[in-house]
Amino acid sequence: MSNTDFVLAVEDLTVSFDGFKAIDSLNFYLDRNELRVVIGPNGAGKTTLLDLICGKTRASHGSIKFRNEEMTRVPEYLRVRKGIGRKFQTPSIYENLSVFQNLEVSFPRGRGVFGALAFRRDDEVRDRVRAVADEIGLAGQLDTEAGLLSHGQKQWLEIGMLLMQEPELLMLDEPIAGMSVREREITAELLKRICVNRSMIVIEHDMAFVEQIAHKVTVMHQGKILAEGNMEQVQSDQRVIDVYLGH
Ligand code: ADP
Ligand code: MG
Repeated sequence: MSNTDFVLAVEDLTVSFDGFKAIDSLNFYLDRNELRVVIGPNGAGKTTLLDLICGKTRASHGSIKFRNEEMTRVPEYLRVRKGIGRKFQTPSIYENLSVFQNLEVSFPRGRGVFGALAFRRDDEVRDRVRAVADEIGLAGQLDTEAGLLSHGQKQWLEIGMLLMQEPELLMLDEPIAGMSVREREITAELLKRICVNRSMIVIEHDMAFVEQIAHKVTVMHQGKILAEGNMEQVQSDQRVIDVYLGH
């Protein structure tokens, strides 16, 4: 495919682990400012798809274009710099640092160094930390040690650490696992807010949550896309009911 308006265009993507195709000739297109939810049974290949997009896993075949730029052979750290942010299932915050410090260390230092005086950078970082803390609902906890936060707050902090980099594509793998009902509601609102300025891919199982946040839903099964559409289309698809929703 030539130039597209898609922020992400994945085509004919395949990865084999010892001959087993965890992702099998998959095509996937994501719009700007779209929040896509990926669902499907365990082992469907959802996490592997995110691994391939962020560069943690190398594709065996196919193409991954981010803003029309071929990413398939670009190393993971450069994909981060280009604007691909990824949250893994287990949170990776610094428990001994404060919320402020966790956000501060996530500020991308590499950008726009020339001409930026140190004190100006400090101001810029502080402003950005405050804005992000506000966005993730932790503005009142800036001095709290991260280890003392609730499970939900830790998850939001990690999302905040990703937001510090201002990713154009943000990918979250099961962000509400282990959260209380109230925390799930707050997370749904948070995700809806932050996708106004970026595109997002969220893997999730909780269908009530999916319904709240998804613009479109992709159903994966055995490394392939089984169905794709809005919530209603997907929920009424007999193949989706058979392999996933009916269980
Ligand atoms: P999901 O996230 O949908 O539950 P995964 O992407 O984690 O599924 O896994 C898809 C399949 O690929 C599973 O059968 C899993 O065992 C296999 N798989 C994933 N990563 C690897 C790996 N690094 N080596 C071998 N097999 C893997
Ligand atoms: Mg998974």
